[in-house]
Amino acid sequence: MHLIIHRGAKEIGGSCVELAAGSSRILIDFGLPLVDKDQQPFNSRSIKGQTIPQLKASGILPPIEGLYRGETRQIDAILLSHSHLDHYGLLSYVLPDIPIYMSQGSKELIEISDIFVPTKVGNLNAKVIDLRKALVIGSFKVRPFLVDHSAFDALAYQVEADGKKIFYTGDFRAHGRKRILFDRIIKNPPKNIDCLLMEGSMLGRSETLSHNEEYVQKDFEILLKQTDNIVFLSASSQNIDRLVSAYKACINTGRILVLDVYTAFILDRLRKISKGIPQFNWKNVRVKFMKYHNECLVKAGLKELLFKYAKSKIEMHEINQERKKILMLLRDNSVFDRIIEHIPAVKGAKLIFSMWEEYLKDEFKQKCANYGIEIVHLHTSGHAFPQDLKKFVQALKPKKLVPIHTFFPNDYQQFGKMVEMVPDEQPLII
Ligand SMILES: [Zn+2]
Repeated sequence: MHLIIHRGAKEIGGSCVELAAGSSRILIDFGLPLVDKDQQPFNSRSIKGQTIPQLKASGILPPIEGLYRGETRQIDAILLSHSHLDHYGLLSYVLPDIPIYMSQGSKELIEISDIFVPTKVGNLNAKVIDLRKALVIGSFKVRPFLVDHSAFDALAYQVEADGKKIFYTGDFRAHGRKRILFDRIIKNPPKNIDCLLMEGSMLGRSETLSHNEEYVQKDFEILLKQTDNIVFLSASSQNIDRLVSAYKACINTGRILVLDVYTAFILDRLRKISKGIPQFNWKNVRVKFMKYHNECLVKAGLKELLFKYAKSKIEMHEINQERKKILMLLRDNSVFDRIIEHIPAVKGAKLIFSMWEEYLKDEFKQKCANYGIEIVHLHTSGHAFPQDLKKFVQALKPKKLVPIHTFFPNDYQQFGKMVEMVPDEQPLII
């Protein structure tokens, strides 16, 4: 089996791995880069309007024959690990007949993002993977594993061909609400792995917030109890674990969780996968309508959902009146000021910043300071801590361990002598 990391050997984002065996070729993930050649944040707007040859020439699209629109197809399928843009964001360039395998949750979330988020991938030949069965694609036998990650329904893959086995972790962790999935793999690990491609996002980071999701919930509760005003929550609407933490913290402190229509829609669509996901019509949940979200739903032909969510609608005057009892989802975006303007006594309010701290911009900090809103960072990462990565390697005992999805591949030496750094675009025969 041949393996090529097209991107990810020494960076986070733009993940893409190619596997070839016999006459079959598959890809795992096809993501949007997060950094450019100079390690600066990648501007996804900069590629709008560029042609496929231009994007190939600049290295944004990896040099994969028979993958792109207008070419003769040579790629059998693409496996997606999860619904984060750095794992699927370049799919709009691939031949539309290539099947793209993913979990049900990933399919739902990618479709939702296409309605609301500017980076769109369009209609995909999406195939939902049956998690109970192995999948055969040409010479490959693929076995999916559900993993714990900040993206809902994330998958790792074991891929077998030519009598060899690789294991691709995708993004994963052992400290979210589904950490049992990590424990399950550790207790009954796949055997005889010739090559483990393991993410290492947390290596080289000096993050101090190394606790689990339940601690995040507890911290939310403490803060909600201590605050005698409205509390805002800046979190990703697609981080379901975090929304569950927010919901449970509201139940335990008597607060009302105010969502937006986008978030209500996400939770609604994922209900068919997990009944435990909080919903717009549950106790202590209300929905604040915003023009942009309404327009997106109407444009997508889903206007009737606005009537459905209207049953839990909350207006600004009620939010203002009940502010001491509210936890409101609100991010650093164009509606921020308009919302705050409706709350004259906002001084002393708090904003829980519940994302990676590097997303917290100085300008936003200043804005909150001007309003007298205190920012409190309460978060835990979507990625495994180094000690959990170590446990994983020890359980799987791979013959080779190849760093991927990391800015610090050298740090993998701590996991043993089987580490082999494979640069981007350099084939490895397994
Ligand atoms: Zn991810």
